[in-house]
Amino acid sequence: MSDSFEAKGKRKKLVGELRRKGITDEEVLRAIDTVPRHDFMDPAFLNHAYVDKSFPISSGQTISQPYTVAVQTSLLKVRKKDKILEIGTGSGYQCAILAEMGAKVYTIERYRELFLKAQATITSLGYSADFFFGDGYEGKPQYGPFDGIVITAATPEIPETLLNQLRIGGRLVAPVGSGGSQIMTLAIRTGEDKYEYSYHGYFIFVPMVKGIANGN
Ligand code: SAH
Repeated sequence: MSDSFEAKGKRKKLVGELRRKGITDEEVLRAIDTVPRHDFMDPAFLNHAYVDKSFPISSGQTISQPYTVAVQTSLLKVRKKDKILEIGTGSGYQCAILAEMGAKVYTIERYRELFLKAQATITSLGYSADFFFGDGYEGKPQYGPFDGIVITAATPEIPETLLNQLRIGGRLVAPVGSGGSQIMTLAIRTGEDKYEYSYHGYFIFVPMVKGIANGN
């Protein structure tokens, strides 16, 4: 779908709202101002593309709330050419934000339908990223170590396989928790076997599930 003055105006408003909610990373705000979120929405919710909320996409999953995407991306401290691994491609919106910021993105999705759709959307917008259909719990060791890893589904704990794929100095951001909400957790790898943890508020995500999804 093409971009419009109306959509551009709504994005500016959304960026203002995110600033008021405490987002300060100018590169993250610029990316949100640039990426047409309406292209990642289910047609039923098209009018809500620039509302700061998550919305249903296919396969019972959701496109993350812009504020959540902004918090996770800010915590990654993305620099151009960084290698970033995303677990949970979903709509592809978070992937597009990272690509817009100049990151080299590797993204994994366990639903084939979402994997195919997100790949088509990202490509049609002229971004490039490496898409994988598979189980994010395994990560992509053959492409690591990564500067950043972002998990966009709720996990009771951060999988060790993923922590091991960070470079020293690399940052992993994940919503951790098994109840109704999760705490946004940043793990920085400070040594071969050393990680520093910090916590950045409560969020609600769909669960991270082991294995690829059956059927679609
Ligand atoms: N980043 C997405 C958010 C999608 S919601 C966006 O910007 O739209 C989380 C996604 O994680 C869902 O699509 C879900 O299918 C996927 N997911 C859950 N467990 C997974 C796993 N083990 N491996 C890969 N993807 C997973």
